[in-house]
Amino acid sequence: MLNLVLFGPPGAGKGTQSARLIHHYQLVHLSTGDIFRANIKGETELGKLAQSYMAQGNLVPDEVTIKMLRQEVEAHPEAQGFIFDGFPRTIPQAEALDLFLASMGEAISAMLSLEVPEEELRERLRLRAETSGRPDDAQPEIIQNRIAVYQRETAPVKGFYAQQQKLSEIDGMGSMDAITERLKSAIDGLL
Ligand code: AMP
Repeated sequence: MLNLVLFGPPGAGKGTQSARLIHHYQLVHLSTGDIFRANIKGETELGKLAQSYMAQGNLVPDEVTIKMLRQEVEAHPEAQGFIFDGFPRTIPQAEALDLFLASMGEAISAMLSLEVPEEELRERLRLRAETSGRPDDAQPEIIQNRIAVYQRETAPVKGFYAQQQKLSEIDGMGSMDAITERLKSAIDGLL
């Protein structure tokens, strides 16, 4: 299986690029943010729990997120591999993912980290706020908190995969097509 972590701060282009890559490589796209949003929309118990954290730009607790992710992976027994988008976002999530995949005889193939300067991220999020309809895109203070949470809790996850020699840094600036091509060359190098 080809199991990829697509990594990067809010606004780096993880969702957009995941959508392009899954078709090319026949992978299942698992975006924890999308799954939480679907649960909020469907007014499920999980959605009710996640909503207050998301609205503030904070992380949903690890225990809840890890359990949900496992269920999503198990719901796709036919998958040839996954793109994890927005997960893992903490070191405990990364450790849990490794253990869980190992229990299936699988492992993460690589982390692809989209590198985008902070100024550009803020500009992209400002533009996205106009079209995404996401409440957590609408307020500058919430965006600021998401960036702070990223730096504090999520950025260290890069080091976790670097230690395993699985980190590949990808320039996330330029046209969407150019970025897709860079990601594909990195992935093709793994095949
Ligand atoms: P995203 O769509 O990836 O930007 O995620 C939107 C929000 O969902 C985040 O700001 C968090 O509140 C929550 N979320 C998504 N993925 C995770 C995760 N792996 N761990 C904790 N919270 C998450």
